[in-house]
Amino acid sequence: MQVMLLRRSFLQSRWSLPFLGAWFGRSAALAARPQRDFLKELELRTFINAAEPFTALSGSIMPPEVQQAWNYAATRHMRLDEVHDAVGRKIAALIGCPSAMVTAGAASALTLGTAACLTGLDRDKVRRLPDTTGMKSEVIIQKSHRYGYDHAVRNCGIRYVEVETLDEIERAIGPNTAMMHFFNTNEPMGQVKLPEFAALGRKHGIPVLNDIAADVPPLSNFTRSLQLGCDLVAVSGGKGLRGPQSCGLLYGNADLIKAARLNGPPNSDAIGRGQKVNKEEMLAMLVTLEQYFQRDHEAEWREWERRVNLVRSAVTKIPGVTAEMFVPEIHYRCPHLRVHWDAANIRLSVSEAIQRLRAGEPSIEVRPYTKDGLELSVWLLAPGEVDIVARRIAEVLKAG
Ligand SMILES: *Cc1c(COP(=O)(O)O)cnc(C)c1O
Repeated sequence: MQVMLLRRSFLQSRWSLPFLGAWFGRSAALAARPQRDFLKELELRTFINAAEPFTALSGSIMPPEVQQAWNYAATRHMRLDEVHDAVGRKIAALIGCPSAMVTAGAASALTLGTAACLTGLDRDKVRRLPDTTGMKSEVIIQKSHRYGYDHAVRNCGIRYVEVETLDEIERAIGPNTAMMHFFNTNEPMGQVKLPEFAALGRKHGIPVLNDIAADVPPLSNFTRSLQLGCDLVAVSGGKGLRGPQSCGLLYGNADLIKAARLNGPPNSDAIGRGQKVNKEEMLAMLVTLEQYFQRDHEAEWREWERRVNLVRSAVTKIPGVTAEMFVPEIHYRCPHLRVHWDAANIRLSVSEAIQRLRAGEPSIEVRPYTKDGLELSVWLLAPGEVDIVARRIAEVLKAG
């Protein structure tokens, strides 16, 4: 009865019968048809990711709840700024910070965060970037914190002022200083650690941006930068969070996030216009964050250790093979396995082993570094894949 009524009122509206018929008919037919095999059509090979959620490897597989959020968003029209506001508020509440925005990756968060420090809420300045004439345009960074991703900051037309000591930072700060930039992973390499770096920013009223792109887990890294006084934090959505690879987050100071929003889409005359995120990315990021904050992180850690131990006992049965668990200090901080072998027994270089795992069936990617032995992660493996990885590594070593 209800359906009937609904249908009648539908038909009486501007929707025409042939249109509705075609629409429902098409979705029903699509649902009934077997899924297209795109890998086959495009002649592509999938693989097991025992490497990391690298961009070049398309990140990780989003959990079903995140995929659902993505699909939900894909079938509804929404006003982009309203989604930005609502999702940003929810994510900020989860993190416990004043404000947050979904960006097109951590690199985009670096660009939008820097742009925010340069332009504030001045729309004329927003239109002018990367021409920084008349704006504060120097960004202070420690020499040991220069890295490939600082291109995302340089994009904004800034000039880096490189420093090494606390004293040099004090002297470098001046009327032209727009921002101070910290690369979290390289904290041990620099003389000035985050607490002192952030405190100096506070003291002089200079916004401090910390890039923690791949440094979650641990969960505590979400709040550490804020507790220490950073104004902006950039993180990847598709690395340790294992959400959408096309996403990141910028969070922290509310005025700066507001300014960052002005420098990105939907605004068209803005430096971040090419870094578009749509409703799909935003809802998917919201669910990614909800899941991350609800997860039992200790149980997950134990599961990763179990997987590492499983591969380790399988490969160390082979004469001449040793293996140990290791946890990278900051970047991708979770249990990994490193495998060594005796060159007299097994005539195979690490890069040959990597190549054979890639070429084998199924194809397996491990970490691309060759200096210290064969290195692999286990956190992106689907159920059952850890046994395949253990078996394939053992086969490759035995054949070597
Ligand atoms: C990966 C990474 C980025 C870029 O992150 P995306 O989310 O891929 O844009 C920036 N900074 C660091 C330190 C990274 O590791």
